[in-house]
Amino acid sequence: MSLPQFKLLRPRTVEEAVSPLGDYAGNILVLAGGTDLIPSMRQKLFEPEYVLDLRGVAAMRGIRPQPDGSVEIGALTTLRAIERSDCLRQHYPVLTEAAATVASPVLRNMGTIGGNICLDTRCLWYNQSLTWRKGCGFCIKKDGDLCHVAPGGTKCWAVFSGDTPPALLCLNAELEIASARGTRRVALQDFYTGLGENYRKLQPNELVTRVFLPASAADYRGVYRKLRVRGSIDYPLAGVAVVMKRSSNGKSGHVADARIGITAVNPAPLLVKGASELLAGKAVDDALAEAAGNLAAKICKPLTTSALTPEYRREMIRVFTKRAVLAAAHTADHN
Ligand SMILES: Cc1cc2nc3c(=O)[nH]c(=O)nc-3n(C[C@H](O)[C@H](O)[C@H](O)COP(=O)(O)OP(=O)(O)OC[C@H]3O[C@@H](n4cnc5c(N)ncnc54)[C@H](O)[C@@H]3O)c2cc1C
Ligand code: SF4
Repeated sequence: MSLPQFKLLRPRTVEEAVSPLGDYAGNILVLAGGTDLIPSMRQKLFEPEYVLDLRGVAAMRGIRPQPDGSVEIGALTTLRAIERSDCLRQHYPVLTEAAATVASPVLRNMGTIGGNICLDTRCLWYNQSLTWRKGCGFCIKKDGDLCHVAPGGTKCWAVFSGDTPPALLCLNAELEIASARGTRRVALQDFYTGLGENYRKLQPNELVTRVFLPASAADYRGVYRKLRVRGSIDYPLAGVAVVMKRSSNGKSGHVADARIGITAVNPAPLLVKGASELLAGKAVDDALAEAAGNLAAKICKPLTTSALTPEYRREMIRVFTKRAVLAAAHTADHN
């Protein structure tokens, strides 16, 4: 499948990048590592007149620990750099673990954290060639007006399938978003719409420039568990991130705070509401971990957007959450 024709723009600074984004808004797309955008353009899912190649914007790369204990990550930082960062592994291990599960080493060398956060939602009826989609009469997400997954509905249920966002949600990460009018900062939790088609709250003239990990989320132990058909390459079909801090005084061995994030079972990655309340102040045992698994399974709504059945994917969210809570408690015990 060939790429459609486009004009390539190569800015060197954030200012140079946001200017054409404003000028050609709606007819320009941002390219970071290109590992998702280029295959999608080959499938004619996007045919912009301009492609804005960010790779020359050096200021958008790098992992920068701050004096207050927080960390800033440039949106262009590769997943490989995140996976290999000693600082992140020490203070935000759930993020390095999640990054290390994305695709394969080659794709992690190219793929960026910004691209992973901004990843388009996926569906078996959408991530196909133009000929294939045309043969099926298209669908709501592009060029059509019906949903093959939930016929009769008016909503697209394409699933968010990035691995790092559930980890970043557990860490209360924030994003810096830039446009020609300046910058704004948003909590990652408020970045996604929950809709399969317009899945993120980013205007066509805006760019994600930085990711902030707060000092208050540092030193939580964390684990990430992912369901996929093959042990490498595949997108998650269900994913669970868990972070946990144990009491340092008082009830030793009890959970002081914990958060659970899930991915690949809804149109947005989600924090599991009530997880902290359920786990805080208690010692983790099998029954408590099982209750956490049940809570996570309740908020996922997998449909037939992906390989493997919705029932199996929901069940694996329950099982992985239970295992991840037990593993995080075990890790926390040894730190
Ligand atoms: C075979 C294969 C397997 C894969 N497996 C996985 C997997 O297991 N887990 C997973 O999470 N992903 C997977 N991916 C998807 C992809 O490789 C990663 O999500 C990667 O992190 C995307 O980053 P990128 O820099 O390449 O994004 P790009 O392809 O450059 O961009 C992705 C999207 O984000 C937008 N974008 C990128 N950067 C910015 C920015 N700074 N501001 C605003 N918008 C931006 C682009 O316009 C585009 O819409 C897979 C891809 C392939 C081809
Ligand atoms: S969920 Fe429905 S509308 Fe969305 S991409 Fe799939 S088939 Fe299309």
